[in-house]
Amino acid sequence: MKAYVVEREALVHNIQALRAFAGPVPIWAVLKGNGYGIGLVPFSRILRENGIDRFAVTELKEAETLRENYPDAPILMMRSTADPGEINELLDLGVILTVGCYETAVAINGIAAERAMVAEVHIAVDTGMGRYGFLPEDVDKLISVYEYMKNLRISGIFTHFHSAFSNEKATRQQFELFTALLEKLRAAGCEPGMAHCCNSHAFVRHPEMHLDGVRIGSAFLGRLAFKEKLGLKRVGYAECTVEELRWIPKGHTVGYAAGFKARQQTRIAVIGVGYYNGFAAQRENDLFRFRDSLMGILHHLKNIFFPRKIIVSVNGHKCRILGHVGMVHAVVDVTDIECAVGDKVVVQVNPLNVKGLRVQYR
Ligand SMILES: *Cc1c(COP(=O)(O)O)cnc(C)c1O
Repeated sequence: MKAYVVEREALVHNIQALRAFAGPVPIWAVLKGNGYGIGLVPFSRILRENGIDRFAVTELKEAETLRENYPDAPILMMRSTADPGEINELLDLGVILTVGCYETAVAINGIAAERAMVAEVHIAVDTGMGRYGFLPEDVDKLISVYEYMKNLRISGIFTHFHSAFSNEKATRQQFELFTALLEKLRAAGCEPGMAHCCNSHAFVRHPEMHLDGVRIGSAFLGRLAFKEKLGLKRVGYAECTVEELRWIPKGHTVGYAAGFKARQQTRIAVIGVGYYNGFAAQRENDLFRFRDSLMGILHHLKNIFFPRKIIVSVNGHKCRILGHVGMVHAVVDVTDIECAVGDKVVVQVNPLNVKGLRVQYR
């Protein structure tokens, strides 16, 4: 038996804590990547049951699935698209589109005019992420979108922070660029509608940036990079069983590259999860800048000389992984605990990395 277990109670606890912190500010639940790995449909259903019914996605397929399930929920497509096929399908679904540049505005406006309708859109502003969005200095172009595109109903505007998990100063700078742009729009007689910029980290750390709405994904799962966690619980773990138990003699080795050599007789348990399932999967280091990479290298060296112990829970006891984690196997030191074949093993895995495990809500 193997599964990725999502504890419903912890998830509900987090939703409630986040709603309480947001107060009257509406929350867009970001559900990209199959709802961060825990299932678009079951996750969105729990969100709805607990008072969150606005969803933000990046894929047409996700919008389709949500619309089938929730005929009336606001759905925001956060990715700006000028593809006519995609625009038509999104309009059929009644999804709010994102306008990230002038050409996209022209494309959506044209299609909406052909369909004799008005398309609801949000404007994306690029304050440093370098992805979708008008640059703050392109305010004149943006104003002309508000003024001349009669088949667009612009009900919101947003930007996205690139370093809210690590760099408060950069986040503040992006926020200032964004709010200055809002002022310019208002001064020009354009009503920006719902302004939103916070992702999970900015939401938790910068209440002053909540504005008229927030977009939250990882915080629902209690996965934040810093210590202010609003009492959020980490949701989800992999579960498997002890498949084999035995004693290995002194000098015997375990795993590829003989990563562990027994200094004494050792009792080992073989478990059936590995890095393919997301266990001990290497965190991507390319998220960081050169300066951080140096820290990463030092960290790596430290791990070579003082190996980090990977801990799993067998029968409720903390136990150490021996040697390298394999693709679908790992080996645990159970010398000092009582356990039997078939006993339950709990392994910490980020659901985003999970492959090959059935997601099970409990
Ligand atoms: C992923 C994403 C979010 C949510 O980010 P979290 O850090 O998971 O809360 C918000 N906005 C945009 C544009 C995103 O792509």
